[in-house]
Amino acid sequence: VVIGEHRHTQVQIDLQAIKHNISEEMTRKDPLTELWAVVKANGYGHGIIQVAQAAKQAGATGFCVAILDEALALRQAGLTEPILVLGIVEPEYAALIAEKAISVAVGSQAWLTQAATVLAANQVNAPLHVHLALDTGMGRIGFQTPADLAAAVQTLRQPQSPFDFEGIFTHFSTADQADDTYFIQQLTNWKTLIAAVDELPRYVHVSNSATSLWHQACNGNMIRFGVALYGLNPSGTALSAPYRLQPALSLTAELSFVKHLAAGKSISYGATYTAKQAEWIGTVPIGYADGYERRLQGFHVLVDGRVCEIVGRVCMDQMMVRLPHEVPVGTPVTLVGTDGDQTISLQDIADYCGTIHYEIACGLATRLPRVYT
Ligand code: PLP
Repeated sequence: VVIGEHRHTQVQIDLQAIKHNISEEMTRKDPLTELWAVVKANGYGHGIIQVAQAAKQAGATGFCVAILDEALALRQAGLTEPILVLGIVEPEYAALIAEKAISVAVGSQAWLTQAATVLAANQVNAPLHVHLALDTGMGRIGFQTPADLAAAVQTLRQPQSPFDFEGIFTHFSTADQADDTYFIQQLTNWKTLIAAVDELPRYVHVSNSATSLWHQACNGNMIRFGVALYGLNPSGTALSAPYRLQPALSLTAELSFVKHLAAGKSISYGATYTAKQAEWIGTVPIGYADGYERRLQGFHVLVDGRVCEIVGRVCMDQMMVRLPHEVPVGTPVTLVGTDGDQTISLQDIADYCGTIHYEIACGLATRLPRVYT
């Protein structure tokens, strides 16, 4: 991986903002409910290790990731808290999972059988921590029937079991919507399923950010707090958060080239933009290879606090903007963040691209250096 340390285009992460968002949730939730920070996908593009450390300082007592390698990266960085891998890890890695004291989501009896074989073959002494995933309507992973769930619980609790039945959870697919019809159906399914478990494990959890923000009464004894810790509203703009979410990420660059363009001249691939009159045009050293999407042609950036349109196609590594007047090379450009009284949010970019801010944040390439304040 090559990081653009010598190009003045950077992602800036305000760790205080992350701590602020977590502290707000810490004060709001039941004190007996733990907050685990969801730091998968390189901390939603913000940097997995730095976010995990900030989250821990703000009170997070565990972490959630999507894949085993992310959990291993946290262990490698010296974090000793519980780490739950939310996706399915291949059972062939059962020994490694147990040795590193990582917890995994399990959604089938077959997984337990295969993992038990691997653990026996490797003579692992540490137990493998399991969180049973229940599919209450997300349709992604997990047990769907009380009978299958009860059988898995029985396997986990057998004498000599190589497993530690540490948690049970589900995931809501519509917790960020105003209409709670489907949410209530999922909640009913959840209650039916967990009734099949005689004695519940240490962690019982159902809440992503949206569930904790808008359906707090459902929180079990742990919440999987993701997008909101980065200061992003899980619903986009549909619902308002109970406290001020402070976005942690900004994206800035500097103009690398400035020119006067005569009327009738065109800009970028396909010559899709032609100056109607003489104009000042600035080149910004960022492109779709940085995760700044090609679809953003016609959107805008801030130069000296002024809104400037992106003209012509966004190239792989550079793009052009129309300036109100001549400005020097090196003038700061804000692509996400605030300059003067203007702000561009990840939500604004997502709206323009017809997607969600999660996708824009995760899509910011590793080529962009992350600078922490
Ligand atoms: N829990 C599970 C199972 C997830 O898949 C995710 C993320 O997609 C989260 C929690 C965190 O969700 P959010 O970022 O919306 O808080």
